[in-house]
Amino acid sequence: MADDSFTIHKISAHMSAAFICCFLTACQHPNSAKTAAQVTPPTQRPAWELPEDADAKTYLAGCETGFKQVAAELDSFSTIKSITDLALLDKLNKMDLVLDKQLSTAGLYSSVHPNKNVRSAAEECEQHFVEINTDISLSRTIYDQLKGVDQTKLNAEDKRYVEHLLRDYHRSGVDKDQVTRDRIKKLSEEINLVGQQFDKNYREGGKQIEVNSVKELKGLPQDYIDHHKPNAAGKIIITTDTPDYMPVMQYAENDALRERLYRTYRDMAYPENKAVLENLMSKRYEFAQLLDYPDYATYVTEDKMIKSPKNAQEFIDKVSALATPRAQQEYQVLLKRLQKIDPKATRVNDWQKMYIEQLIKKEKYQVDAQKIRQYFPFAKVQQGIFDLTQTMFGVTIRPWQTETWDPSVKAFEILDNNQVIGRFYLDMHPRDGKYKHAAQFGIQSGIKGVQLPIAALVCNFPGGENPNDLMEHNDVETFLHEFGHLLHTMFSGNHERVAFSGTKTEWDFVEAPSQMLEEWVWDADTLASFARNEKGEVIPKELVNKMRAGRDFGRGLWTKHQLFYAATSLNIYNKNPSTIDIDKTTAEIQAAYSPFGYVDGTHFYASFGHLNGYSAIYYTYMWSLVIASDMFSEFEKEGLRNPKVAQRYRATVLAPGGAKDAANLVSDFLGRPFSFDAFAKNLEKAH
Ligand SMILES: [Zn+2]
Repeated sequence: MADDSFTIHKISAHMSAAFICCFLTACQHPNSAKTAAQVTPPTQRPAWELPEDADAKTYLAGCETGFKQVAAELDSFSTIKSITDLALLDKLNKMDLVLDKQLSTAGLYSSVHPNKNVRSAAEECEQHFVEINTDISLSRTIYDQLKGVDQTKLNAEDKRYVEHLLRDYHRSGVDKDQVTRDRIKKLSEEINLVGQQFDKNYREGGKQIEVNSVKELKGLPQDYIDHHKPNAAGKIIITTDTPDYMPVMQYAENDALRERLYRTYRDMAYPENKAVLENLMSKRYEFAQLLDYPDYATYVTEDKMIKSPKNAQEFIDKVSALATPRAQQEYQVLLKRLQKIDPKATRVNDWQKMYIEQLIKKEKYQVDAQKIRQYFPFAKVQQGIFDLTQTMFGVTIRPWQTETWDPSVKAFEILDNNQVIGRFYLDMHPRDGKYKHAAQFGIQSGIKGVQLPIAALVCNFPGGENPNDLMEHNDVETFLHEFGHLLHTMFSGNHERVAFSGTKTEWDFVEAPSQMLEEWVWDADTLASFARNEKGEVIPKELVNKMRAGRDFGRGLWTKHQLFYAATSLNIYNKNPSTIDIDKTTAEIQAAYSPFGYVDGTHFYASFGHLNGYSAIYYTYMWSLVIASDMFSEFEKEGLRNPKVAQRYRATVLAPGGAKDAANLVSDFLGRPFSFDAFAKNLEKAH
């Protein structure tokens, strides 16, 4: 549990929701009080340059068509003479629909498309749409029309729709003077560009080390060694990609090898991303200041469950106080074990923790990850997750015949009562230039009577070369986590407004359903339904019990590590960045929260992708975990695969999408407001 790369995965998990949130916010980001006359006519918008590459050209041409559609829609607001309130909302929704689709597709393609030119074209497309989003968000014409809507005549969802739109317009500075609005517009565009650069440097900033001899790989699983044969020059190449990185950190006996790979991993996208991040921080600060917020963290927390950076810091402190005694105790256990290898050791270093933790789990809890992985061939895991979904929610998953962006990508559709309710792609294995973590990407929002939800899971699991390649149990957990986001999208695709379809709930709630679902990969009965080795033997219940006992070890350390990320993200955005020395600040925070301290000369922030996508609000993972623990207690009472409770959960928590405040979704399911109790109990559980 104390492994950070895994953590990062899970954490990046629902980038797509993040993207959508960002962009819908941006599109609802109000600002420029443009009057009708000031809205740039389509003819004056910049001409598109279509590239030579045929695939990129086709993609970009489609993007341009969508863009023109949105531009025409936007311009048409200025000629409205009289329109009913409902027709106005429908018109906005229609524009949102195109924006949502284009931005989602651009976000996906820029992250996964195998053709580099298409990835670049997608970034370009995204930038065009971000710009027009800003125009929309600055449209005084639309804002004034919205202000005139008689909310008393609307149904509950539309009333909420208008409230949210007005809130977001206000948050964009629609009432600012022209000079300020122009600057805000320019800044929004610049922030997106700088953020793209940050992501790109990270995505393409993978590094590698050379290993001289297979002897250095001692301790690693044989299939890993088989996959890493020396090249013509006799060198073994190990990259910072997760399937390469994780096994070394967990199993390699060679401390120097682990340290070398850790330092390389922790230096991805460095130095190039240092200046990029500083630029991003300073632009976001200026943006917040222009909108009368003291800093960006205040701006970005305002519309979340947590409401303010002060509350976020208090939350981090509260969880830290809960976790500290346990983390200290666990650290001492790790140190004692390390001293058996190196009697002179006075501390456990960050590159040692996963390896030592692995040893302890093996010795103390008889949890041997290498023995466990035999039960998780990729293909069986995928089928197992499909079957679990079918059992719990009474749906059917079947292949969907359609084109995909890469031959390795598979497509499926999900049926309820013989009706297709959604479609999805699985892009599960690493490729050059592909997004490095695990995430769900929305592609199309489900709209009642108009279109089905479509989404993609993008992961980096083994199994690309052979479907029977083995996954770590961690990977299985990540798979189910991401699938949780996908189900949220599939089950909430029956709304009229794009703004409420899918995972567009408060951002600090969006992880909760996925975090809760992780619990199922620790359930012996669930695992028995799919976890089988080559000989067809089911994973023994006794082994699962040991895994569960071992799981609890490291929970305190893992929690502290998460808080280190949360505090980093909050504290680089909650003040004037000109007062922040990024190296010093991040090193201090790591030293303060992580018992392993900071490793001199590393620059993890350069590849901490969330600092762009999540900005100040990494705390959301821990916040939603508190809620997930509480919701899970209901399944513990009623039975994990009890379809009745699962259907009630689907109806009260997932299906409403963003149509209700998240706090209400949870209390609808639990019959009471959520509490800290279940989370605290898990943390205190003796091991
Ligand atoms: Zn997630």
